[in-house]
Amino acid sequence: MANQTVTVAYGDGIGPEIMDATLKILDAANVPLTYESIKIGKEVFEQGFTSGIPTDAWDVLRKNDAFLKAPITTPQGSGYKSLNVTLRKTMSLFANVRPVKTYTPFIESNFPGMDVVVVRENEEDLYAGIEHQQTPEVVQCLKLITVPGCERIVRYAFEYARANGRKKVTCMSKDNIMKLTDGLFHKVFDRIAKEYPDIENEHWIIDIGSALLADQPQRFDVVVTLNLYGDIISDITAQIAGSVGLGGSSNVGETLAMFEAIHGSAPDIAGKGLANPSGLLNGACMMLSHLGFPGHTEQITNAWLKTLEDGIHTGDIKNDLTTTKLVGTKEFSQAIIDRLGERPEKLPAVELKKDSKPIQIATPKHVVKAKKLVGVDVFIDWTSDDRNPEELGHKLEELAGDALKLKMITNRGVKVYPGGQPETFKTDHWRCRFVGREQIKVKTKSGQSVQAPVSYQSLIGLLTRLSEANLNHIKTENLYEFDGKRAYSLGQGE
Ligand code: NAD
Repeated sequence: MANQTVTVAYGDGIGPEIMDATLKILDAANVPLTYESIKIGKEVFEQGFTSGIPTDAWDVLRKNDAFLKAPITTPQGSGYKSLNVTLRKTMSLFANVRPVKTYTPFIESNFPGMDVVVVRENEEDLYAGIEHQQTPEVVQCLKLITVPGCERIVRYAFEYARANGRKKVTCMSKDNIMKLTDGLFHKVFDRIAKEYPDIENEHWIIDIGSALLADQPQRFDVVVTLNLYGDIISDITAQIAGSVGLGGSSNVGETLAMFEAIHGSAPDIAGKGLANPSGLLNGACMMLSHLGFPGHTEQITNAWLKTLEDGIHTGDIKNDLTTTKLVGTKEFSQAIIDRLGERPEKLPAVELKKDSKPIQIATPKHVVKAKKLVGVDVFIDWTSDDRNPEELGHKLEELAGDALKLKMITNRGVKVYPGGQPETFKTDHWRCRFVGREQIKVKTKSGQSVQAPVSYQSLIGLLTRLSEANLNHIKTENLYEFDGKRAYSLGQGE
């Protein structure tokens, strides 16, 4: 393969030491890469760039396919934004991949044989950061899940499994409760899994799934999940493995992928030549696999495993049982270079498919579906002495108009009108569901009943009447059917 250029950032704290060590090992293994360096991090923050990235660095990042980043120090203070979040969101790095493995008995862990890769969706879910306060008592965070977002992360997980000789992909979601959002993720997973018959697939509800992951991590291989769950379980896996200092991770987009160590800039040992370069080296090996150099990944990883096995350890992994020689950063990397071409004898050696190509996930196709407006949920900020839903319900029935009728009112998702139970706690935030008054039961080709169409003008008329009656509507959510299927959740008790 032709020589390629990747962007590198030496970072802060121990960053420069571990980057030097890592690139020295890559050069010794004859990896056909050249490096273009950018300055990001502490110094750049202090020059007044609140993102920690100077303007010209973006052009370099855009030009090269991969970015190897040493840890950076985020200055204390509210004016500084997380550099990682800025990079992820700006460059659309949709997949966060974090492999975690144990290396017993050479590095102590309660979970011998654990070898899990968490593939976390990086851009959507509650992390879209769309939050509003709507009433004195209620705040909201929007959970956004998209078809293309699910497709590319799930496809990435299967492609990663295939390229890295993995046997199984597990999906984790909470689709027993969030049937539309998490349900979409699960459905897309089931559909795409069929395209990979060579890889086993399974689904766990996230609560029991993460409990099993913390208790029996050996039963998992690749785990793909939504942003929030992925954030949590990737930390659980790193923590229980006891090897946070050794792990690498990647943030992968369509055109750019960023690779790094899981750990931070360790200012307490910076400049002392003591740092373990393994985290960044493992990040660099992920980069080599991503760019299509599985042979080099294999060679370097096996030399690194042999070094661990020979008991050549830095201070952070030193132990009474297996350490034979305590070394600093430079000696550790030299020990790896000396072992290039060797394989571990006790730890399992890494074997990757040599014909694997760089993982490329194409932009998913636009989905066209027949969309029909069938009603509206109007959210109202309303309070009275006893917060009696009957009072609100009667007012709204009068205001519903000719085209719409009030179907129900819920409070925090529980139906309180018509009917409802007096024990249900009620806040000042009422979801009032209006549907077409002429609820003609039309039989579709598939035999389903569908609601009568509703016009956008009738919704505007409704909102005008509500505001004239001093009912403060906070927001609306239109109710749609897609391809004749209800595309909104029912209220609890509806
Ligand atoms: P840290 O990971 O830097 O350090 C935690 C402990 O682990 C320290 O005792 C440190 O000496 C040790 N350690 C970490 N890496 C090591 C290595 N390679 N070899 C030997 N020992 C190692 O976490 P922290 O102290 O919470 O954070 C320090 C700085 O790093 C902060 O400014 C934080 O914002 C930043 N940080 C950056 C990243 C990143 O750039 N991706 C990630 C996490 C933290």
